[in-house]
Amino acid sequence: MLEFEEALARVLAAVPAPTSECVSLRDAPGRVLVEQVQAPIDLPIFANSAMDGYAVRAADVASAKPASPVRLRLAGKIAAGEASSGEVTAGMCVRLFTGSPLPPGADAVVMQEDTHVDSHSSGQVLILAPVGPGGNVRSRGEDVKHGATLAQPGDIVTAGRIGLLAGAGLTRVHVGRQPVVGLLATGSELTEPGQPLAPGRIYESNRSALAVLLERAGAVPKTFPLVADALAVTSLALADAFNQCHAVVTSGGVSVGEMDFLRRAFEQIGGELEYWKVAIKPGRPFVFGRFRGKLLFGLPGNPVSALVTFLLLVRPALLRWQGATDVSLPAHPGVLAEPLANHGERRHFMRVKVDSTGKIHSAGIQASHVLSSLAAANGLVDVPAHTTLATGSAVTALRWEY
Ligand code: AMP
Ligand code: MG
Repeated sequence: MLEFEEALARVLAAVPAPTSECVSLRDAPGRVLVEQVQAPIDLPIFANSAMDGYAVRAADVASAKPASPVRLRLAGKIAAGEASSGEVTAGMCVRLFTGSPLPPGADAVVMQEDTHVDSHSSGQVLILAPVGPGGNVRSRGEDVKHGATLAQPGDIVTAGRIGLLAGAGLTRVHVGRQPVVGLLATGSELTEPGQPLAPGRIYESNRSALAVLLERAGAVPKTFPLVADALAVTSLALADAFNQCHAVVTSGGVSVGEMDFLRRAFEQIGGELEYWKVAIKPGRPFVFGRFRGKLLFGLPGNPVSALVTFLLLVRPALLRWQGATDVSLPAHPGVLAEPLANHGERRHFMRVKVDSTGKIHSAGIQASHVLSSLAAANGLVDVPAHTTLATGSAVTALRWEY
């Protein structure tokens, strides 16, 4: 039986290097960059006003006070989007708005609230407060300098990064290709949701839930029909899925019972089994294998085991496949609001709910078939064997979003 860390390391070591494609920013969210992106321009691209106000020479207004304002001559107006024209010389000011280019000669902007326009003396502005050089000015390149690195290979394309890249005028990026992942559910008891249930049968739920997690991990799920518990059909289904996909995720049929055909079927089609036992709960039976440069992840059938082993062992592989550097679930350090007890022999990744204040609650009953606590959970806490973590313990929840 492998320790979790070794199981994960072996999966990651088997993942092929990312191949790249060029996509529009619109299609890039969640994708992984495989290139370093350099700023083609300065940001801001020109010095501009951070306020509605007046461009001035700071030295001209150093003595301005409400009781003894400085009077400046209004030489013009530059709206946002207009090019600046003319130079601001001593005793002059120019009306500006947020984003208006700072005209040459000016080195600061007095905000409108610190000014007074006298209706009797048109063309004059009273400045009521001083502003230091550079005040209320966004200087050229203060955000990003031309040539600076905007993003690194391995970065996930987030909304913020899309904003940065678009702001630099870029429209396309090179990202890792998304692996197409076949999804198979094995089990003669399984029925498609929406169909009538015969006695002894249950609804199949793993493919729907795993398809969501596959998409969240940037992979392209391809769902295959249900697979009955029989060696020949399991082999055929695996061969078909491997023909069409870069990796195959199966659920069920990986235990030691005589109705568990997954491992035998995989070996029958020529797959090489890497391991099939990991010392974690849920999910001791977890099959990892290779087939002609492609990967098999055989998850246990219990819905909780399937989802937890996916998050811990498959999600990292799919992210790495696309070139991601950080592949672990986001860690949330917090305090337990109630105890978590693991009486078992294996470390238990227990379902928890991180509330909006950051406190960590048990998500409910921890048995591997309990879907309600899975639905309530948004994280996992790794509880060592034979250990009870008391209320108030500092722990780290491994989070997922939805
Ligand atoms: P197995 O890993 O095949 O032994 O299945 C373990 C348990 O999970 C059994 O109770 C199965 O009925 C159940 N199960 C297996 N696959 C699924 C599935 N795709 N959806 C819902 N329950 C499943
Ligand atoms: Mg089964």
